[in-house]
Amino acid sequence: MILVTGGAGYIGSHCVKRLLDKGYAVVVIDNLSRGHRDAVLTGDFVHGSIGDRRILEEVFTRWPIEVVMHFSALAYVGESMERPAEYYENNVAQTLTLLTACRDYGVKYVIFSSTCATYGEVERVPITEDTPIAPLNPYGHSKRMVEVILEDFDRAYGIKSCIFRYFNAAGADPSGMLRERHQPETHLIPIVLEVAAGQREYVEIFGTDYPTPDGTCIRDYVHVNDLSDAHILGIEYLRSGSPSMIFNLGSEKGFSVREVIDTCECVTGRTILVKEGQRRPGDAPRLVAEATRAKTLLGWRPERSDLRTIVADAWHAMRCCR
Ligand code: UDP
Repeated sequence: MILVTGGAGYIGSHCVKRLLDKGYAVVVIDNLSRGHRDAVLTGDFVHGSIGDRRILEEVFTRWPIEVVMHFSALAYVGESMERPAEYYENNVAQTLTLLTACRDYGVKYVIFSSTCATYGEVERVPITEDTPIAPLNPYGHSKRMVEVILEDFDRAYGIKSCIFRYFNAAGADPSGMLRERHQPETHLIPIVLEVAAGQREYVEIFGTDYPTPDGTCIRDYVHVNDLSDAHILGIEYLRSGSPSMIFNLGSEKGFSVREVIDTCECVTGRTILVKEGQRRPGDAPRLVAEATRAKTLLGWRPERSDLRTIVADAWHAMRCCR
């Protein structure tokens, strides 16, 4: 049985669908503070917090949990700068409660959602797993702290883990049943598509004076279903007795903000009104992954992570999905 924390959120709900499609038995726990109940496509759902030891005891007593996939977290960089206490409480303290329960109830494997925000502003791209760690904000620090806790829990208690450092998760399941629904929305692709759909007047480009070919930031966009597939490969990797490992997950291709907007115009056939604005504090000019380790050790093959497919899937889901 797989316990998915944050299974009502964007990436968690996609991963739950992939797990169910492949025949895995799944139970979701989510406090619905940011997630959506209707995004959970399995009946085994617990409404509660991973910081609540009593609820965790009920879950671990009721279901024989072998693997925990831990998605639940607060994940806005800007918010983390303003409200660090909430980020450390949610992302670190509550995760410690979860991992301690994992130890007490004999969970063997943990698959953890980390982030390329752990790297901070890098000198060189592509970024490998050996690129030095230097988070720029409490969100990145909170994810790094859990990575360290997992390393210690492996050494002391033998819990094996896969830590996935996502680059820019984007896209949606091609069925149109799920989509990115952040409240408020801060991510580039959904914002641009909201402009295309007439739900928003314009997109502001945060900075046009970066040291990149067109002056806008470059990011590595990776399809949410490809991320989900890596998690499922992670289960099999750990079950085969392989050691705990950190993996970058990205498409290995960088696109500027302007290139993303151009692709959205192309895919939707709509004109997108753009305003040029100031840089957003904390944004690195260029983040692009090297994902060789995931390809080599997990056999990960991203299938939908070219930008046009990502945008087309997100656009389709935006028009089908509630
Ligand atoms: N961005 C932008 N306008 C927006 C939202 C984002 O120019 O309304 C830029 C942002 O500065 C970054 C890129 O788009 O360079 C991707 O931002 P997003 O928030 O989607 O992901 P992040 O890279 O922060 O994880």
